[in-house]
Amino acid sequence: MYQTLQKYFGYSEFRPLQKEIVQDVLDGKDTFVLMPTGGGKSLCYQLPALLLDGLTVVVSPLISLMKDQVDSLKANGINAAFLNSTQSYTESRRVCDDIVSNDIRILYVAPERLTMSSTLALIAKANISLFAIDESHCISEWGHDFRPEYRKLSMLKQKFPKVPIIALTATATPKVREDTLSQLGLKGCKTYVASFNRHNLLYEIRPKKETYDQVLQYLRKNRGRSGIIYCQSRKNVDTIAAKLRRDGFNALPYHAGLSDTQREINQEAFIKDDADIIVATIAFGMGIDKPNVRFVIHYDLPKNLEGYYQETGRGGRDGLECECILFFSHGDRYRIEYFIKQKGKKEERDIALKQLQDMVNYCVGTTCRRKTLLRYFGEELETDNCGGCDACLRPKEKVDGTDKAKLLINCVDELGERYGMNHVIDVVCGANTKKIKEKKHEKLETYNSGCRLHRSEWLDIAREMVQQGIFSVEGSRYPLLKLTRASREVMQGSRTVTLTRTAALEFPDTQGPED
Ligand code: ADP
Ligand code: ZN
Repeated sequence: MYQTLQKYFGYSEFRPLQKEIVQDVLDGKDTFVLMPTGGGKSLCYQLPALLLDGLTVVVSPLISLMKDQVDSLKANGINAAFLNSTQSYTESRRVCDDIVSNDIRILYVAPERLTMSSTLALIAKANISLFAIDESHCISEWGHDFRPEYRKLSMLKQKFPKVPIIALTATATPKVREDTLSQLGLKGCKTYVASFNRHNLLYEIRPKKETYDQVLQYLRKNRGRSGIIYCQSRKNVDTIAAKLRRDGFNALPYHAGLSDTQREINQEAFIKDDADIIVATIAFGMGIDKPNVRFVIHYDLPKNLEGYYQETGRGGRDGLECECILFFSHGDRYRIEYFIKQKGKKEERDIALKQLQDMVNYCVGTTCRRKTLLRYFGEELETDNCGGCDACLRPKEKVDGTDKAKLLINCVDELGERYGMNHVIDVVCGANTKKIKEKKHEKLETYNSGCRLHRSEWLDIAREMVQQGIFSVEGSRYPLLKLTRASREVMQGSRTVTLTRTAALEFPDTQGPED
């Protein structure tokens, strides 16, 4: 093992877990590997491929990277090849011949290609020793990049019951993990989970107000450093990249609306440090391995925590610090919610809404970001102060909010738990809306009982109460505020409520024109 490691890869040591994984694969066991990007997953199947007798088939969705991967293996003296739709007939013919004559050790193949009957017939003629399924979370609808063509990989275990499978991913919540294993027929196999904690990433959430100015100020302090600014829409990408150039920064745009050539040019310029900043949609980054990214800014709210983790994960690959700043507003949240609600299937909507809620909780939460993020991936961080996030470095002051909480609970109670958060707050603020007049809610005892605070402050309070489980929110189309056991305890005086002192309007509800 060590000899081959040294001879073909030039390493003298294994990274954490690699050795155990390689050993299991060599013993013919099915294995599941969860490792963050950059953890060294490839070696877990490339080394066994060299030590096993037959062919190792690697399934990967990243067609654009296959050629590079194969070229670099070849450069190390490993006989590798790939099969995908970008090849000419002659090229793929040659690869097929080589497979049959057992001249290839590692074959990269796109999932849709592998599951074609002609390919299956072809590899049945070869002596296959291992299937490696990269980005295996793509098989699960619960993941953030479900790919229907991965579903067909379920057949591998049935068609080739004797061939061991190693499934790998950098991103899987416990739910996705379980789903992936059952889809692949690997239930009960040995699972290896490396830590997902990226010590050198610093996490920070900022209110999305005067966002462009905040970004500008940050960039002025960090001139010459390399970084990514993620935006939700192509239009935003173009606008911000142009503004930054006007303000004297070397920033380039990247999104799927640009031509292939332009995208490649901009990406290359960024990777080669000819441009400091890339302003991009989430189309940017898959498979990019730039070591010195010093900041990752999320100008808009990401749709889920998995995407956020992946995107921030592109920073600090060299092990040095990278600042990850996310600008949050509830306005963004409503906008994403609106888009989700246009989606076709109910299950898809529910999954997306749940993921968005987790994303929002992460932003408005006051506990350690790292802890929250890792817990989402099923990992417990041992310490209470990670020393590398805004919540740990600048904890927010807590104040007693029992009276305010009681006031809201009273109002929800008086409304019979039949209204959403906005209406409840309209009532306590004494608003004069159509709905209030129609329902005669100005007659309620709690009407106008909270007029001393601004509406946005009540919203913050109500949201924090939801987060603490003092209210629950039920119903997805018309979410209603409901009382819980905790709210009753507050009313009975057996429970106090501690709230974060947020400046009202800290996370704005709407967005200014500059955003
Ligand atoms: P992943 O697929 O998990 O994102 P890679 O397989 O691309 O990670 O590996 C990330 C980097 O770590 C690569 O540059 C690789 O060469 C390097 N690497 C992997 N294993 C080792 C090792 N045992 N010793 C030193 N470097 C390694
Ligand atoms: Zn922390």
